[in-house]
Amino acid sequence: MKTRALTADVEIPYLGFGTYLIADDEAAAAVGEAIRAGYRHIDTAEGYQNESGVGAGIRQALTSEGLQRSDLFVTTKLWPGNPAWGQPAKTIESTVASLDASLERLELDYVDLYLIHAPFERDQRLAQWRGLVELQQKGKARAIGVSNFSAKHIEELKTAGLPTPDANQIELHPWSQKPDLVRYLNDNEVTPIAYSSLVPLSTWRTAEGQDSAKTDQMKADGEQADALFKVMAEKCGVSEAQILLRWAVQQGYPVLPKSTNPERIRKNADIFGFSLDHEDMAAIEKMDRGDGVAWPMGDPTKAP
Ligand code: NDP
Repeated sequence: MKTRALTADVEIPYLGFGTYLIADDEAAAAVGEAIRAGYRHIDTAEGYQNESGVGAGIRQALTSEGLQRSDLFVTTKLWPGNPAWGQPAKTIESTVASLDASLERLELDYVDLYLIHAPFERDQRLAQWRGLVELQQKGKARAIGVSNFSAKHIEELKTAGLPTPDANQIELHPWSQKPDLVRYLNDNEVTPIAYSSLVPLSTWRTAEGQDSAKTDQMKADGEQADALFKVMAEKCGVSEAQILLRWAVQQGYPVLPKSTNPERIRKNADIFGFSLDHEDMAAIEKMDRGDGVAWPMGDPTKAP
């Protein structure tokens, strides 16, 4: 399994399995399918309400595949709470308690990566980051990071004299390449992890009940975009989804494709046996449209 260094002693596999919008009672089967297909990195979150199912899938697959806990890389995320949405903001104490509750649901002793799911208010961010630092010191999270943070948010942590996050999980795909933020992350040794890699596909979150505010626009755009990705996919003898995932990995970003379809789960994992040539990478570089659709960073309060 190809990995990228996250800290001096923690490696993150490039291929991860996303679980957003997988119901708790379907998560064990999907995670089991993914581990059998070779995924060794699983991404969940307190906010996905599926940690119990994800944990059950992990345990079953460890037994059936003869793997050790240390063979897997598991990420979960703190839901920070947002007073603007009527939710109490988590404090240092409730942050620490939140990971304990996640570990209980996952039935794990530690996670490999714990992230603050999103930035809301400044005081809250600093308190929560202090909570994550404490959790790492206690050995409950091997690495710690953030998600949907801008460079400004990370600078605030540094200015407060706190450690720099090990990773920032953000929406990254050919339509939202965020070159300035990625440069900042790489310069500061913060690993960018790509989520929603498959946004340009016309099939992205179109299943019943999984649509986002942008689904109709994405579907129309995806149908138009098919032509270019189709040409690249035919050239490499792979699917368009594999092209999108391979692009991210070539940029140095771990990816987290989500699927509940066993055939897609298997194909999405097959991204290390081919590569995009310079011409295709250059063509994709020109496709950037700016802000993302899953979590527009220009206005994080508009998150889904
Ligand atoms: P993805 O980019 O993984 O796309 C998933 C969608 O694409 C689903 O509708 C899936 O449908 C479809 N799909 C999957 N594989 C294929 C394929 N080979 N061909 C055609 N369609 C396909 O989207 P996500 O938004 O789920 O992002 C991935 C993961 O990143 C999440 O699951 C989550 O773990 C993480 N994430 C983190 C966020 C954050 O704020 N930190 C925000 C959003 C995501 P089907 O299941 O039917 O195959």
